[in-house]
Amino acid sequence: MGEIIDGRAIARELEEQTKAEVDAMVAAGRPRPGLAVILVGDDPASDVYVSHKVKASARVGVRSFENRLPASTSQDELLELIDRLNADREVHGILCQVPLPGHIDARHVLEAIRPEKDVDGFHPMNAGRLMTGTGGIPACTPLGVMKLLASVVPDPSGLDALVIGRSNIVGKPVAIMLLGAGCTVTIAHSRTRDLPAVARRSDVIVAAVGIPRFVRGDWVKPGAVVIDVGINRIAGEDGKAKLVGDVAFDEVQHAKAVTPVPGGVGPMTIACLLHNTVQAAMASGGGDPRDPFHDAPDSSLIYGAGEGASVE
Ligand code: NAP
Repeated sequence: MGEIIDGRAIARELEEQTKAEVDAMVAAGRPRPGLAVILVGDDPASDVYVSHKVKASARVGVRSFENRLPASTSQDELLELIDRLNADREVHGILCQVPLPGHIDARHVLEAIRPEKDVDGFHPMNAGRLMTGTGGIPACTPLGVMKLLASVVPDPSGLDALVIGRSNIVGKPVAIMLLGAGCTVTIAHSRTRDLPAVARRSDVIVAAVGIPRFVRGDWVKPGAVVIDVGINRIAGEDGKAKLVGDVAFDEVQHAKAVTPVPGGVGPMTIACLLHNTVQAAMASGGGDPRDPFHDAPDSSLIYGAGEGASVE
C-alpha cells in the first residue's frame, strides 16, 4: 500500500513556520500581518470556509478583519469596501469568498483587489506573474498541491504530470507550477479523448474535476503520485452527508502516494492563504514601490529559488 500524504500534518508544519515568521516580524517592530475576509450572503459552505480561515489566522498570529455583508449588498457597496481595504495599511491581504450572489460580477470584484493584497492569487496580474515566472502571489490551492507533491517527490523534474481540470483557480495554475518544476504537463478537461490512457502514462496525477470518484484505480500506474483536489458532498451509507474527492481513494493503493479527502489538499489551501498573507506583509515593507513582489522573500514558489515557471 502506498503512502497516504497527511495534508493536515504538512499544513500544521507550514502554519508553525508562518507563525514563526509573524513572531519575528512583530519582534522586529514590523506591523502584525492583517487579513481582511469578506463574505457576502449566507451560503453555509462559504460560512464554514470563512470561519476556518479566521480561526487559522488566530493560530498563526495574523489579525483578521471579518466583513460579513448581507446578500442584498450591491456591487458598488462591495467595491467601496474593497477600496477602503486596499487603502488600509493594517490590511495586507484581502480575500473575498466566492461564490458571490448572482447580481455581483465576481470577476470585476476580484480584479478590484490590489494585486499585492490579492492573497488568493486570483488577480490577472498574479496569474500573469505565475505564467511568466516573475513572482507574484501564487494561488493557494495550487501552491498547496505543489507542497504536498514536494513532500513525496523532492524533485519532480522530468516527470510526466497530468492535471485533470482547467479552471483558472486550480487546473491552470497547478499546470503552470508543475511546468515550472520541470514536469512535462498534460492538461485534461471535458473534451479530452481517452483520459484513462493519458492517466496511465502519468507519473503525477492532479485531479481537480468536481466529480466524486472520477479517477479510478485502473487509471493509475503503480508508483504514481495522486493529488486529489476535489471536494464533493455526497450522501453516505448512513444517509448523512460526507466529503469525498475526485479519486476512488480505495482503488489507488498501488500508487506511490495519494492524498485523502478530507485531510489532504483542503488544510493546505488555508495554510497557504496565511503563508501568502505573511509574504504580502513582508513585501509591503520595502523594495521597489512599482513592484511590491520584487523583493518578496519567497518568490520561488516551491522548487528552486527564482525558477518560477520560466518557459522561454
Ligand atoms: P471547475 O471550475 O468546475 O472545473 C472543473 C474542471 O473539470 C473543468 O475544467 C472541466 O472541464 C473538468 N471536467 C469536468 N468534467 C470532466 C470530465 N468528464 N473529464 C475531464 N475533465 C472534466 O472546478 P474547480 O473550481 O477547478 O474545482 C475542482 C474541484 O476542486 C471541485 O471539487 C472543488 O470543490 C475542488 N476545490 C477544492 C479546493 C480545496 O481547497 N481543496 C479548492 C478549490 C476547488 P471543462 O473546462 O472542459 O468544462
